[in-house]
Amino acid sequence: MDMNYAAETIEINAHQISRIDQVVLNNSIDAIYLIDRENMRFIDANETATRTLGYSHAELLQLGPQNLRLDTTDPALIHQHFDEIIQSDSKTGMIRTTHHRKDGSRLPVEVHLRALQSKGKQILLAFARDISAHMQTDALTGLPNRSLLSDRLAQLTALANRSTKSVAVMLIDLDRFKNINESLGHDIGDQIIIEIGRRLAASIPDGDTVARLGGDEFVMALANVDEEDVTILAQQVLELVSQPMVIQGHEFYPTGSIGISLYPKDGADCPTLLKNADTAMYRAKAAGRNNFQFYAQEMNARALHRLQLEGGLRRALERQEFVLHYQPQLDLASGQIVGVEALLRWNQPGKRMLPPIDFISIAEESGLIVPIGEWVIRTACMQSKAWEEQGLPPVKVAVNLSARQFQQQNIEEIVHQILEETACNPRSLELEITESVLMETPEATAETLQKLNTMGVQLSIDDFGTGYSSLSYLKRFPIHNLKIDQSFVKDIATDSDDAAITKAVIMLAHSMQLKVITEGVETVAQLDFLRQQGCDQVQGNYFSQPLPEKEITALLKNQCNIC
Ligand code: C2E
Ligand code: MG
Ligand code: MG
Repeated sequence: MDMNYAAETIEINAHQISRIDQVVLNNSIDAIYLIDRENMRFIDANETATRTLGYSHAELLQLGPQNLRLDTTDPALIHQHFDEIIQSDSKTGMIRTTHHRKDGSRLPVEVHLRALQSKGKQILLAFARDISAHMQTDALTGLPNRSLLSDRLAQLTALANRSTKSVAVMLIDLDRFKNINESLGHDIGDQIIIEIGRRLAASIPDGDTVARLGGDEFVMALANVDEEDVTILAQQVLELVSQPMVIQGHEFYPTGSIGISLYPKDGADCPTLLKNADTAMYRAKAAGRNNFQFYAQEMNARALHRLQLEGGLRRALERQEFVLHYQPQLDLASGQIVGVEALLRWNQPGKRMLPPIDFISIAEESGLIVPIGEWVIRTACMQSKAWEEQGLPPVKVAVNLSARQFQQQNIEEIVHQILEETACNPRSLELEITESVLMETPEATAETLQKLNTMGVQLSIDDFGTGYSSLSYLKRFPIHNLKIDQSFVKDIATDSDDAAITKAVIMLAHSMQLKVITEGVETVAQLDFLRQQGCDQVQGNYFSQPLPEKEITALLKNQCNIC
């Protein structure tokens, strides 16, 4: 290492700094470090340094600049870098860099360096100032950030007022990036962001801007364009984003979804243009990802409708607007109703009753499905208990659980508590989950299912055949019943493939001691086929639609009188 650079000679020993003027040092707004040049270690640091970075003083003394810097961890490179920036005439230098805090978060800093000599030792005094408040660039990619984008957009729109062309705001959001971050870690996620930022920056014309808004969201602000120009560019961007990349030995095929808004047509200022580009981007996601959409006025109407639904859902529980309908499940051998499936309905005053397809996904995304789902379990258990008290023969009540509910930590405790509270027999409760729940977190799921099984709760796989699980995979879980999805049943009597699949599933399920329920049975031909194949139970409009409480209770009582 080259140690011959200009330095001011003073007398200082390693711990003197804290004695000289501790109070001043520790109250400085700058983090102050003394660095041993030779081995690139901190000799001392003030309280601002320990406070802003989250390290203890002792921990910091084990580190050097290479442990803080985001750009390189090589002490020799940093050594060289310091040499380059320290001007020989003033013995000082300044760099802007980004430090890592102990918790991994980032701190953009401006570091003023001063070269010193003490007893023949090369020492650096470094003052690092937090400049995050003044930053106009994004720490990870070095691209402009939201605030700089906003400035640039204001300039572009001011210029555009004198032209017939538009300014386009193109919002690019990576598809399923959250999955990458969660499964492979933020390190790899960061590298992907950096690479995408690099690709986008390399692709834009001079004078235009690429900014990173945060997360996996980038924005391009494009001047002097019309829809046709933007269409071509959006296609290019999609292609550019989806070039494969290799990071730490993993190969990635990223894709992005793009939403576009145009000035002046879609908004007069940056917040409105961004908001509308965002709405269009969500539309692109909904249209299957890896595509682009221009903003259109009616998208806002849709977004508004969604917001209203979500708002309504939030209040629906306390306003007691939910009801359960129950659809009978018949045992094919005895012809008796042996169970019912509880199906949720939403009754807003003055409106038509909404089926789950109209609101379950919003309830899932907003997290509201958790309290709503709890209400469903409780209501179903209370109903089951009420039937028992009315002297009806036991029928099991099946309740649908969505993935989100299943992922909450204590679903088995909630079920346990509700069973106790309602004094419902656990054997009367069946929980339906879909294959995707099993596939996503198999270990945790197996454990939860085991606990529910031990309580005596029945478990079934709903919509079987629509996911990717195989029957042998199901062996790992304590499942009792398999519900073959309606889509197979639809053409069972006419489509030989569907018939063959259904036949095979019934056979295999039986060999694994699983009971098979077929749902969506609508015709006698379907029923005959299923009977022939030895299907255990059926559910469908052929027998009965889902019925409100009074009607299903009457039906159960009626059956009881017959038997
Ligand atoms: P699913 O669990 O597969 O429920 C069966 C659906 O098929 C019900 O629709 C039922 O009305 C319908 N169905 C039954 N027989 C027939 C038939 O013969 N022909 C046709 N075409 N359809 C039939 P529904 O009630 O609209 O529920 C739709 C889905 O919503 C359910 O599918 C379930 O996944 C979900 N869901 C319902 N209630 C809840 C709930 O409380 N919580 C959660 N998380 N999801 C629920
Ligand atoms: Mg179901
Ligand atoms: Mg189903």
